[in-house]
Amino acid sequence: MRTTDRPTPLRPTPLRPTPWRDAALAVLGFFLPVACLGCGRPDRALCRTCRAALDARPRRVRLVAGVRLDAAFEYEGLVRTLLLELKLRGRVDVARPLGTRFGALVRTALAEASAGTVVLRIPPSRAGARRRGFDPVVLLLARGGVHRTGRLRRVRAGPTGKGPGQKERTATERVAATVGTLRARGVDGRDVVLVDDVVTTGVTMAEGVRAVRVAGGRVVRCVAVASVED
Ligand SMILES: [Zn+2]
Repeated sequence: MRTTDRPTPLRPTPLRPTPWRDAALAVLGFFLPVACLGCGRPDRALCRTCRAALDARPRRVRLVAGVRLDAAFEYEGLVRTLLLELKLRGRVDVARPLGTRFGALVRTALAEASAGTVVLRIPPSRAGARRRGFDPVVLLLARGGVHRTGRLRRVRAGPTGKGPGQKERTATERVAATVGTLRARGVDGRDVVLVDDVVTTGVTMAEGVRAVRVAGGRVVRCVAVASVED
């Protein structure tokens, strides 16, 4: 059952993760032998066979607040594993296989949009950003050839998905708790491509669309790494 706009956080280790530790692990990953995250074979983070399987997965298209959302993948199986390894364990070596298609979708959206269209990211939760010390969406976009990404501002915390009452929240309550959490700046009269990693209910992305509209901009496309399907 879909109850939050974010994947359920996993606890990778009992240690409290810190940015320097994640960075150190990421650096070590380049030197130590690694197993393929798809099949466990000793290889790179993703062996050739699993990479081909990943590339064969279909894209997803849905509507969010009346705007077309392109998702590079469905959020399941290998895609879910790779995203969680990147976000929770700092496995930056999985950024290229995921980021290639994500970046291509953003570049396509930009090519179809007016000149001067900006890419804005839905901001990560403050806790997630602090824990990781890097922004997975910015990294994925860079690996996919998109090097200029701005972000919306979070003006107050939205539903965290971790509170005791979260599971009982109705969709209406979730929307009500999310409206007004984001703000856009400098988009008056401009076209915007909104990006995020995982879109679940779409409530957060819809809030991003609202924030851009309030600031006088127009969201021409939403792009996500992965979409959670019904
Ligand atoms: Zn494999």
